[in-house]
Amino acid sequence: MRKKIVAGNWKMNKTFSEADDLIFKISELINENYPMDVMVVVCPPFPYLELATDLTQDNDISIGAQNVSNHDSGAYTGEVAAAMLKSIDVEYCIIGHSERRKYFNESSKLLAEKVNILLKNDIIPIFCCGELLPEREANNHFNIVEKQITDALWHLDSEQFKKIVLAYEPVWAIGTGVNATPEQAQEMHAFIRGIISTKYGTEVAENTTILYGGSCNSKNAKELFANPDVDGGLIGGASLKAEEFVKIIESF
Ligand code: PEP
Repeated sequence: MRKKIVAGNWKMNKTFSEADDLIFKISELINENYPMDVMVVVCPPFPYLELATDLTQDNDISIGAQNVSNHDSGAYTGEVAAAMLKSIDVEYCIIGHSERRKYFNESSKLLAEKVNILLKNDIIPIFCCGELLPEREANNHFNIVEKQITDALWHLDSEQFKKIVLAYEPVWAIGTGVNATPEQAQEMHAFIRGIISTKYGTEVAENTTILYGGSCNSKNAKELFANPDVDGGLIGGASLKAEEFVKIIESF
């Protein structure tokens, strides 16, 4: 079902005690004033996932990872398996973030494998897509986003696809302080919903959650989330301060 979601991507930030403090504060603020129809997902680095799932077991916050191995288990030094995430109650996992595509050369083929392994382990992939600035300037952004989605996800059957959350994150907006305008976000989200509808039918498309990410903060969230095809946000920098993150959640 189409859900409203605000997800925080902490990236490679926070020490253990800072992570403890941030999760505690977010939980406290959310419990005071929780908009019940918005799902909150917090995605800390791997070493803090168990702490996060423990601290949030009695509230409505869900925990997500920022990466997963494409292998089930075995001799893959440094990797973390989907089954390990599942065993500590991780419910979501970010896949295809532009930083992983850029710095770790993650290809669509690898992302398709990661999506499969997440679904096999009953973890919801938050699949990121988005164009670079020159691609938008060349008016090629729709083609780029379509290819990212089709190459990594179109092998799924509709029952599998229904479990995916998408995040449109124009790369030029990530961490730059320059967010997509509400019109640009709505235009791309409607386009994405359109290609899903063509492939999987209107009902699946209407029920797919599509988040916006890229310099979203408490000042611009309301305008962005007000669009009919924007179902929430994937928040980077602004998810690192409890008050700011909770203000974004309350922007719905
Ligand atoms: C992100 O990295 O997913 C992101 C949206 O970052 P920021 O909010 O900092 O632009």
